[in-house]
Amino acid sequence: MSAQDFAGLTAIVTGGAAGIGLATATLLAERGARVAVFDRDVSTVAEPFIGIQADVTDRASVDAGVARAAELLGGIDIVINNAGIGAIGNVEANDDAEWARVLDVNVVGIARVTRAALPWLRTSQAAAIVNTCSIAALNGLPDRALYSASKGAVYALTLAMATDHVREGIRVNCVSPGTVGTAWVDRLLEKAENPDAERAALEARQAIGRLVAPEEVANAIAYLASPLAGSTTGTALDVDGGVSHLRVRPV
Ligand code: NAD
Repeated sequence: MSAQDFAGLTAIVTGGAAGIGLATATLLAERGARVAVFDRDVSTVAEPFIGIQADVTDRASVDAGVARAAELLGGIDIVINNAGIGAIGNVEANDDAEWARVLDVNVVGIARVTRAALPWLRTSQAAAIVNTCSIAALNGLPDRALYSASKGAVYALTLAMATDHVREGIRVNCVSPGTVGTAWVDRLLEKAENPDAERAALEARQAIGRLVAPEEVANAIAYLASPLAGSTTGTALDVDGGVSHLRVRPV
């Protein structure tokens, strides 16, 4: 990829104020895109980004935010549907309200943002959507029933949207990160009895012996969003340090 792969293009990144989303927004901007960061908390969002306070579970704020982004950016070529929340436990662990809450953010949120952005994507010559999925979609992870169900739906939704919009020139792909070193993981480790030991154990469980860096996920998202991936649609790109497919001896 080169420094100006996104010259003249505009992008929305949901959940762009932190973690994978922030790394992606930063990379797209560095490569020439004008970027609107969509987040429920935009207090830390600064230049060169346009911060748009929007909650992907709130249709009115999504519709208004997408319209505002299109106005300020002068259109929308790229949508990165990255906002997501976690849930821990087996199928007994979360009540119906929690199931509804997580699915609303992780799955319906993608539908809401995409629905609002499609009119602008249809007028773009470089339209692309990238959804942030997870290795939880296609691997049986312990104690992640609700989260896995939500990401399985993200994978299926990616294929459905790719199919429905391919003849409109809109590509739709997803990335499936493994365990990424963001605040998300910090929050999980904080709850452990010995966070340092837990982090070391987590790193040792990764085939590559370390967590995935948010910038590595951002690079995969940027590739799929860029015109370089013009013939790629309906795919999931694993950025998981090999854990989905490699059987590496434990260290
Ligand atoms: P993070 O918690 O560091 O950042 C998530 C961002 O999304 C935050 O800025 C948060 O404010 C925003 N957000 C959450 N709910 C929102 C809502 N309803 N509306 C608007 N914004 C909202 O998380 P992260 O680790 O960067 O994860 C980003 C995505 O990557 C998620 O979809 C997550 O499921 C996925 N993922 C993360 C990992 C990991 O190990 N960190 C692994 C696989 C997949």
